[in-house]
Amino acid sequence: MSKNPHITELLLRGSLITLKRKCGKPNCHCVSGKPHSTPALSYSLEGSTKIITLNPGNVAEVKAGLKRYHKALNDLRKRALAGIKALRKRVGAGRARSGKGRG
Ligand SMILES: [Zn+2]
Repeated sequence: MSKNPHITELLLRGSLITLKRKCGKPNCHCVSGKPHSTPALSYSLEGSTKIITLNPGNVAEVKAGLKRYHKALNDLRKRALAGIKALRKRVGAGRARSGKGRG
């Protein structure tokens, strides 16, 4: 696998799926046998699911982009939790009203 600088730039949301389809050629093996499988990225936008069909060569960068997104989400969650902790301290220091329970 080559490390392409563009791969690290890509940030993607959604999930990697495999579309199964028949190409329509009468002599193709997919008529009676296994359908063709095409990698695709499925994501939701404004309430509807969108699908981008991919080339096999895109799969690696899409995977990397999705991974990046999840990592960024995790980082964001951690920061938000740290923020909540900090806020709790501030609120607690300002006025100790609802001091029920700790932690
Ligand atoms: Zn076919």
